[in-house]
Order: sequence, then structure tokens, then C-alpha cells
Amino acid sequence: MKIHEYQGRQLLASFGIPVPAGTVVESIEQAAATYKQVAAESGSDLVVVKAQVHAGGRGKAGFVKLVRSAKEAEDAARFMLTHRMVSVQTGPEGLEVTKLLFAAGVDIADRAPGGTALQSGVSSPSKEEFYLAVTTDRTTRRNVLIASREGGVDIETVAHDRPDAIIKEPLHPLMGLQPHQARRVAFELGFKGSQINQAAKIMASLAKLFEAKDCTLAEINPLIITPGTAKNPDGQVLAIDAKFSFDDNATFRHKDIQAMFDPTEENPAELRAQRFGLSYIALDGNIGCLVNGAGLAMATMDIVKLHGGSPANFLDVGGSATEEAVTEAFSIILSDHNVKGVMVNIFGGIMRCDVIAAGIINAATKHKNPDGSTGFKVPLVVRLEGTNVEAGRKLLADAKSSLPTLQPATDLTDAAMKVCKAVG
Ligand code: GDP
Ligand code: MN
Repeated sequence: MKIHEYQGRQLLASFGIPVPAGTVVESIEQAAATYKQVAAESGSDLVVVKAQVHAGGRGKAGFVKLVRSAKEAEDAARFMLTHRMVSVQTGPEGLEVTKLLFAAGVDIADRAPGGTALQSGVSSPSKEEFYLAVTTDRTTRRNVLIASREGGVDIETVAHDRPDAIIKEPLHPLMGLQPHQARRVAFELGFKGSQINQAAKIMASLAKLFEAKDCTLAEINPLIITPGTAKNPDGQVLAIDAKFSFDDNATFRHKDIQAMFDPTEENPAELRAQRFGLSYIALDGNIGCLVNGAGLAMATMDIVKLHGGSPANFLDVGGSATEEAVTEAFSIILSDHNVKGVMVNIFGGIMRCDVIAAGIINAATKHKNPDGSTGFKVPLVVRLEGTNVEAGRKLLADAKSSLPTLQPATDLTDAAMKVCKAVG
């Protein structure tokens, strides 16, 4: 599960990480008044308007704007609320924007050119923007703190182009991030004077937050330094973006995180599947797959690919799906208009083949097509094996009239070849 940046900022703040104040706006009409309120509270006319969607790359896409007047704030809000946000992270169709964050804007200190060893090769002076995250490293089977001086940009790009610019510090499985580790990372990142303690404290808090809330990712990009002042010559280290994902298997024990769930950001078909206990992930091919078991679903997708086809989805109906769940599964698969054929691949262990067969027949009779007619129009290839397979095959054979597009398959290869041929 993911949350919005404004919610992520609240989480950071609740763990003592300094974040500029902000308010959420949902209409163009609220923009001017909210701008004035945020500016008055921060004592600066600089405000940042940011689209709240579950994807990054907003800055480059024009969905993070620094504004200095109520008029500019309103223009930014109008643009963002009336355009879909298309970034490298969204795909070409982009995302609808319904919420904006109006936050106190901050000045970011200039970074001296040439600075540290990590920075050599960077000729023009840039801003003091850093990357900081905690996630799980599957290779070392530890949680890991990831940090970089090359913040503000896509970390994947940095990892690809300049892997030496990324610092990885493993967290101790029981003791978490140790103070000496945080200080060393702060030092390596080039923080100076009082910045070192500020940054180390933020790292420690982020690591605590990650574990306390069962995150899979807790990311601040960028973490910044404000320009020094006479009173505070080293400036302030602040988080100005927040990205979180949580382990879905653990959200049950975090009511506060559950409350942040925003269904409008989810794929509607995936949400529907969740309600019926189905694991469904939409893909961009044209062969719908209905399978029991995640491993078999993966193998099915592989074999479809092997025979030149392209799966439209991953769908695992699980080991104990009911007839109702199978009916729903078909309805979800066929609601994707790219689906030109369906392959059912069931290995009945706990699942009985006759239950699946009954589900297929039931779904076929109930399924409504866009033109108002009922029944399956697309080719349907079914491979059943295992418990009660004879009963299942008999049910399907007897229901031939309500399943005109049905092609029984003898095994996995036969099924994949048949569905790929049918789809063309
Ligand atoms: P993302 O592109 O979706 O990751 O959105 P971010 O919140 O990270 O913003 C993108 C970039 O906008 C940052 O890397 C900063 O360079 C800039 N930015 C965002 N907020 C502020 C701000 O308050 N002040 C200044 N000066 N720049 C900001
Ligand atoms: Mn960012």
C-alpha cells in the first residue's frame, strides 16, 4: 500500500523529522486563500504547490511549482487540477490529480562546485539536495539505509549512471541503525558542523519509522539544507518530499496507516479482485489468464510468452476459490477490453476441478457483454487437471451450448498453443 506525500510528511513529522508545514487543497477556488494562509504562517511569500498522486517525477512534469503570489498559486492549481500528470513513473495515460499540497516553500543552499570526491565530475554548482531512504535489501536479507549526495533526481538513474554515488548502510536486525553508522553516512554525504547531527538524527528517525510502521520503503528525496543565516550559519536540514510503501501483510496492525488508504489511486479491477480474495494484476497483453496458485500463474504467463502470446493479467484464484469467486474472476478479466482470449489453467489439489467447471459455466451464462448480450464471445481455452477432473470435464462437455467458444486442452503446452493461435 502507498500513501500520498502529504500523509507521508505527517508521518515524518510525527517521528520528529523536520518538514515544512502544509495544507491540502481540492479545488481551484480554495487556492488563493490557502496560499495566503500558508504564506502568513511561514512568514515567507514562497509557497510550493504539489500534485498529490501515487507517482514521482512530478517536478519534471510541471506538477511541482514554486509560487510567490495568490494569483500564481491559483494558476498552478488550475493547471494541475485540469491536466493529467504524465511522468516517467506513470505511463502515457498519466494520473488524474484531485488533491494538491500547498506547503511552505524553502530556499535550498547552493552547493559549491567540485566539493567532495563524490561530486568530482560535477562542474556547475547545484543545490544541496540529498537522497535518503530505508528499504529491504533482498540480497543481504537486511533492511538498509540508502543515501546519496545526488538527490532530487531519480535514484534509479543515479544507481545506473553513477553507482559510486550511492551509500548503503545495512541495519542491524535487532538494534536497527546504530548512531555511529548514521554519523558516518552524514559525514560521507558531506554534511558540515551542526548539519551532521541534524542529518544523523533524521536517519535514525527514518529507520525507526520504517520498522515501527512495517514499511517496505520510506524515502525522502530530496532532503535539503537551507542557506545559512547569522543565527544559524549551517542552515537547517529538512525533508521536502516523502514517499512510503507499506507491507500489505502488516497493515492490519496499523489502523493509522489503513486510514490513509486512498482507493481512488488504485486500479479499480485490482480493488474488485481484492474484495473476492483474488490476486489480480493488470498487464498490457491480450490473453486473460485464470490460474490457481501464484507459481502456476507465473508458469502460465511464461508459457504463453514462449508460444508468442502476451498475458493481459496475472490472476491467482487461490487454493480454495468458490464458484462465486471464479465468476467474479471472469468478469474482471473480461472487463479489460484488450482481452482477445482467455486461458484457464487449473491444477486441482485442494481446489476441485468440478467447482472450477461450474464457475466457468456460471460465469459464461451471467457475463454481460457491452452490446447487452450474455455469454463469452472470446475464445476460451481450458486445461483442467487433478481432483475431480473427470467430473469437471463432463460438466464442461455437457454445457457445450452455453460455451460455444470453449476449446478443451490436454496439457499446458497444448493450452498455450491453442490460445495463442486463437488470438492470432
Ligand atoms: P518529485 O519530482 O515528484 O519527486 O517531487 P519533489 O517534491 O521531489 O520536487 C521536485 C523538485 O522540486 C525538488 O527536487 C526540488 O528541486 C524542487 N522543490 C520542491 N519543493 C521545493 C521548495 O520548497 N523549494 C525549492 N527551492 N525547491 C523545491
Ligand atoms: Mn522527490
